[in-house]
Amino acid sequence: KFTIDKIAAGEVIERPSSVVKELVENSIDAGSGAITIEIKNGGIDLIRITDNGCGIEKDEVEKAFLRHATSKIKDATDLFDLNYLGFRGEALASICAISKVELITKTAMEMIGVRYVNEGGEIIQHEEIGAPEGTTFIIRDIFFNTPVRKKFLKSPQTEASYISAIVERLALSNPDISFKLIVNGNTKLHTFGNGNLKDVIYNIYGRDIAKNLYEVNFSLEHYSLTGYVGKPAITRGNRNFENYFINGRYVKNSIISKAIEDAYKPFIMQHKYPFTAMLFEIDGNYVDVNVHPSKLEVRFFEGSFLYDEIYKAISSSLTQKNL
Ligand code: ADP
Ligand code: MG
Repeated sequence: KFTIDKIAAGEVIERPSSVVKELVENSIDAGSGAITIEIKNGGIDLIRITDNGCGIEKDEVEKAFLRHATSKIKDATDLFDLNYLGFRGEALASICAISKVELITKTAMEMIGVRYVNEGGEIIQHEEIGAPEGTTFIIRDIFFNTPVRKKFLKSPQTEASYISAIVERLALSNPDISFKLIVNGNTKLHTFGNGNLKDVIYNIYGRDIAKNLYEVNFSLEHYSLTGYVGKPAITRGNRNFENYFINGRYVKNSIISKAIEDAYKPFIMQHKYPFTAMLFEIDGNYVDVNVHPSKLEVRFFEGSFLYDEIYKAISSSLTQKNL
């Protein structure tokens, strides 16, 4: 049983940043307004995620750690419920199989909270405890029981940079949530959670980029876009600055990238790529999102229509530069 758990866990949990992604997505799904992520030694020694979301009911805590246990889908037709990032019910089971997990949680309805400790799949503690409303997860010693996997981790600095990238994406796609990332005791990122995407961009990328943006948006029957595109003076030698999200998920997609790059073509040099932060909301009947733990594949039912609309929206933003 344990071997199977560890193999399956490897699919979802490759490194500390995978733990951060899964836990923060759970905090977002729980309706949190503020989420704090604290890491030590690149997350290898410690990851602490604190949220002020709905909490987990006392009687549901053990169930939450079971494989395929999810509170987020009620029937199979919900399989891609646009409102939630999670639905597989695998993350907590996978994380506790390969690390030491401490959970403290309390719902609004309950008088007292729960503290639950699970190490490598074994329940060490499960007791009542006073706690604020919301949930704290502490993950210690990732891969302590799979030393080979631990050896494949990169340096703490590199692992920390992967975690920053994950938190930045989650902050960009959720401007109404305040994110705080603390690395070895120092606050690396703090977003306001005021719903203003431009403020999030400022917090992540700084003044030079936040002061050099054009707004981009459209609102169509089955699609909407809000966000910002960088002035052509701001470019990178790779696509790492091209951020876009579909229904709250960070994705890479060739149609969207091509529309962006074609719209910029008249304005920037070859092999240079622009800054974008674009939030798409797409009707679930017009996009097919295949959410696999390690990759996100998106297919559009009206790809060339969407290409045209994105191209037009960005082009007109870029040519209105004198307004
Ligand atoms: P999934 O997100 O696919 O449902 P997970 O294994 O990530 O599966 O989580 C299992 C369950 O634990 C969730 O469905 C949810 O009910 C509960 N849960 C996990 N994290 C939180 C949290 N931060 N706040 C409230 N509930 C949570
Ligand atoms: Mg989840």
